[in-house]
Amino acid sequence: MNVLLTGGAGYVGSHVARALAAAGHTPVVYDNLANGHRASAGQAAFVQGDVADGPALLAAMRDHSIEAVVHLAAFIEAGESVVKPDKYFRNNTIIGMTLLDAMREAGVAKMVFSSTAAVYGTPRRACIEETDRLEPINPYGASKLCVELMLAGYAGAYGMGFAALRYFNVAGADPTGGIGEDHNPETHLIPLVLQVPLGKRASIKIFGQDYDTPDGTCIRDYIHVCDLAAAHVLAIGAIEPSRVKVYNLGNGEGFSVMAVIEACRAVTGEAIDAEPADRRPGDPPRLVASSRKAIAELGWQPKYPDLETIVSHAWAWHKSNPDGYGDR
Ligand code: UDP
Repeated sequence: MNVLLTGGAGYVGSHVARALAAAGHTPVVYDNLANGHRASAGQAAFVQGDVADGPALLAAMRDHSIEAVVHLAAFIEAGESVVKPDKYFRNNTIIGMTLLDAMREAGVAKMVFSSTAAVYGTPRRACIEETDRLEPINPYGASKLCVELMLAGYAGAYGMGFAALRYFNVAGADPTGGIGEDHNPETHLIPLVLQVPLGKRASIKIFGQDYDTPDGTCIRDYIHVCDLAAAHVLAIGAIEPSRVKVYNLGNGEGFSVMAVIEACRAVTGEAIDAEPADRRPGDPPRLVASSRKAIAELGWQPKYPDLETIVSHAWAWHKSNPDGYGDR
């Protein structure tokens, strides 16, 4: 299948494009390069364009005979979304309609949508199921939930088919090399912790040590980016007309910020200084997925569920590419 990936030159997108190509599909990367990296698209067809630009999207879909879209382009920082909600609702939500309408015009009826665990807000139970209450506590989660609701409308009215994948905390890098995480500025925990042994920062700040968790720091469910990418390939194959299928993607095990720092110490063999800091606004104390549905319905089986493996693949990428793609 010819698959257009919005935000395909980003961290997740580059891994999804590689997984699609390995499965015999033809990825076409569509990215405005505001945060993405041209080099990460490798040999895949590349179109530089903005999701806000409907005519450019339509042309890309027609030029490349696109049959499905993976919509990854988005702003993704929960903390930032609390202070800049307009940025998140405009780019993540409103512009999403431009893409859906371009798809209708081009006759493209399938989409995999990058959603997020942030749609759940502060969960009421230990392992979140897809049917749990959707009560985002930050505009990032709300901006993605709005798109999920739009998908339901478009599926019902226009017969389009969707898979919404609710990502938990994506980390790691393709162990075969060449692609990895390179955000500027970086805000995610694992790459920031690894900046300490790389000599790029003196210490890591722990945002909040007074949460209601065993060690007082926030708990998250970390998923290897290659396992996440594999789920996209399976999800494309599972899309059915007039339906929105929703899947959590995590490993079902939570690790505290302290535990992640410990894993990074173990993998790198470095001491890694950590210092307490204030809570970051918009952070729920604990987010852990049940991915039973993805395992049962998609036949998804994570290859790298172990946190130390995830960290060691991230570390291999950062050590060989201390400046990421070197294009900023
Ligand atoms: N975190 C932290 N220090 C940092 C960056 C993140 O303590 O420098 C914490 C953050 O508050 C959250 C967890 O690490 O509890 C994961 O944050 P990240 O931004 O990686 O992902 P999120 O959970 O926001 O998607």
